[in-house]
Amino acid sequence: MTTDTVAVRQGEALAGAQIGDFTEHMVVMRWRHGSGWSAPELRRHQELALSPATAALHYGQSIIEGLKAHRQPDGGLAVFRPRDHARRLQRSARRMSMPVLPEDDFVTAVETLAAADQAWLSDDPGHSFYLRPFMFASEANLVPRPAREFTFAVISFVIGSYFGQDVESLSAWVCRDFPRAFPGGTGDVKVAGNYAPTLLAQERARQADCHQVVWLDAAERRWVEEMGSANLFFVRGSGPGAVLVTPELTGSFLPGITRDTTLALARDLGYRTAEERVSVDRWRAGCESGLITETFACGTAAVVTSVGRVRDETGDWTVGDGTPGPVTRRIRQALVDCHHGLIPDTHGWRHPVPPAARP
Ligand SMILES: *Cc1c(COP(=O)(O)O)cnc(C)c1O
Repeated sequence: MTTDTVAVRQGEALAGAQIGDFTEHMVVMRWRHGSGWSAPELRRHQELALSPATAALHYGQSIIEGLKAHRQPDGGLAVFRPRDHARRLQRSARRMSMPVLPEDDFVTAVETLAAADQAWLSDDPGHSFYLRPFMFASEANLVPRPAREFTFAVISFVIGSYFGQDVESLSAWVCRDFPRAFPGGTGDVKVAGNYAPTLLAQERARQADCHQVVWLDAAERRWVEEMGSANLFFVRGSGPGAVLVTPELTGSFLPGITRDTTLALARDLGYRTAEERVSVDRWRAGCESGLITETFACGTAAVVTSVGRVRDETGDWTVGDGTPGPVTRRIRQALVDCHHGLIPDTHGWRHPVPPAARP
């Protein structure tokens, strides 16, 4: 292929790559009992042929990850914290009696896909690749035991990252009826079956005129855990003395990698941080007294999103003046700058993708 053809192909891809579009390829690996993992195979993004007896469809041995690759100032791409996502997939696999994918294979799979499809990412700094690794029991067998064949794959689509833009604040509905997770359950891993039961609560939130659901602990229905598929931060105080508080990990909700990144970036910016239990009552009282000045959600998909209004069955309250506050904006900018290579990578989070091999 000549340089000209590559340019034309890239031009076509750019013209066609809208937010939400899947990219051209996927990476697939298979695991078989006795023989282990096959080598990663780059294929066109296409249907998978499945038996109606595919075990994952019946018994739910199915796990996911979600991470992003961002355009860098040198024109290349960098995947954000792929090894941390690899290790979380391993934890999810162990919890679900699934085979563990070696960390290096996970990294090779995501970088192979990002490298192959990098022309699909425009230079618009608001666009990134969302990479979705997933693994499921692909054995055709209805015996409820750990399957003997699994498929691991990575697909990808173009996502907006709100780079440099103001995202309005979200409204949150406190869910007391359906806990998302419980001690000893699977809330601290990324299991496919965690998500379908949340859709009903999400529908209730919409009926209550709110954007997102706030999840409480299952036992007391008192302690704030997460919002939607994102972790929460509360800002106590203001200015350089502000403290960023996030619910401490209890084992029942997800230890987000963005949560970890946010804690580190907040400290880098000179803020104090705390991991502690936060009750709905304290959240509300803190907002009413002015002690809690801001609340935001963070996650790979959510980036950093302000929460401006909260509703539960006793009424509504506003966080600060209801718009994204200065600490939220500063953290969001630091996170986005870190993704896009605009600040030094002191934590070793950015994983550069090698340039695509020319066929
Ligand atoms: C994925 C996810 C998050 C965010 O995790 P990140 O690693 O930051 O993307 C938070 N909560 C739930 C329930 C999730 O599924």
